[in-house]
Amino acid sequence: MPKLHVPFFRPSLKDDEINEVVATLRSGWLTSGPKVQRFEKEFASAVGATNAVAVNSATAALHLAVEALGLLPGQGVLVPTMTFAATAEVLRYQGGVPILVDCDPITLNMDLKDAARKLRRAKGRSPKSEVRGQKAMKVVVIMPVNVGGVMMDLDRLKRFAKENGLWIVEDAAHAFPASWRKTKTASWHHRSNGSKSVTCYSFYANKPITTGEGGMAVTNNAKLAHRMKLMSLHGLSRDAWGRYAENGSWDYKIVAPGFKYNLTDIAAAIGVHQLNRAEAMRRQRQLIAKRYILALSDLNQIALPALEGNRKLSWHLFPIRLRLNRLKINRDEFIDEMKRGGVGCSVHWRPLHLHPYYKKTFGYHARDFPIATTEWKRLVSLPIFPGMHHEEIQHVINTVKRMCARYAR
Ligand SMILES: *Cc1c(COP(=O)(O)O)cnc(C)c1O
Repeated sequence: MPKLHVPFFRPSLKDDEINEVVATLRSGWLTSGPKVQRFEKEFASAVGATNAVAVNSATAALHLAVEALGLLPGQGVLVPTMTFAATAEVLRYQGGVPILVDCDPITLNMDLKDAARKLRRAKGRSPKSEVRGQKAMKVVVIMPVNVGGVMMDLDRLKRFAKENGLWIVEDAAHAFPASWRKTKTASWHHRSNGSKSVTCYSFYANKPITTGEGGMAVTNNAKLAHRMKLMSLHGLSRDAWGRYAENGSWDYKIVAPGFKYNLTDIAAAIGVHQLNRAEAMRRQRQLIAKRYILALSDLNQIALPALEGNRKLSWHLFPIRLRLNRLKINRDEFIDEMKRGGVGCSVHWRPLHLHPYYKKTFGYHARDFPIATTEWKRLVSLPIFPGMHHEEIQHVINTVKRMCARYAR
């Protein structure tokens, strides 16, 4: 029998997606057009928001959000250190300064107590430090990330943002479909965090729903939506679809130096069907998670993700944590061994404060992020994706059990 190899992720694409892409290719309209408009409308309705702007990545969505909110050079932004590169890099595009925040030990989401501490410290640079040439920093945005699809405590987040006069740009790359508080209706209610907030989703190849590459910026603020739409296509006063449609005109006006972030109709063709299947795929991931939890919960060498009571998880990730004092191998060796056993794993993530660019540019110290610094060395994300076969799930379970038995201390 050939050895089983379980990849870390495999996208789930059906005939509906494939046929819609083919129809789009045959339609004669490839770039942003009717499919994108439909995807935006249906996505906005799925999350219960008034506006959705489709773009070619979540990174683009996050950038457009901080741009539309008017982030200025030198202004501070609270960003979790436990996140992907994109969350912090977009504010650097605007010249903003990332104020990294440690994570909660259970959810790995941004710890708001530490956010308050880091905020005080950033503001506390005045007035004495001003004498030393350091200006007091104005902190204007908070960018929470729902790690693995475990929602932040949105009530606390909103309170915190309001008390401190912060805009919210939510990095929800992992969090569709997911919701804070289980609602009776099936709708994935948009977390309308007030008028100065944007939520950004990713449709990258291995995200909960995919368009290959893609993203969506969602907001209940029409002015922000308008600005993001404008800036997503060169700052042109009307979009290409309007320009080339039968009733459109050749003319356009440049009203700002925008970007080239628009989504194609080919990608949106995949998106509309992924959106239809989003909850079905979430349920499949949830079933896999339940099987993992059932099968792995009595292993002493690992800790399983904590189940947060009253919320719906997207189950984008299934991160286990190694109990390193009960194992003879470290995390990297564990992942190598899993790979040799035919299971692809990953780590989410090496925290930002441990990357050379952020360390060098902003002088972060590991001691300021004790939780992230400790926890990331124990993290292993197991494969979890819709369409995972029964034998594949069992193979992951068997391999983890075998590692724990073989390397138990
Ligand atoms: C994947 C990811 C992004 C970036 O998404 P893209 O669509 O690839 O730009 C941003 N934030 C987080 C937390 C992610 O995991």
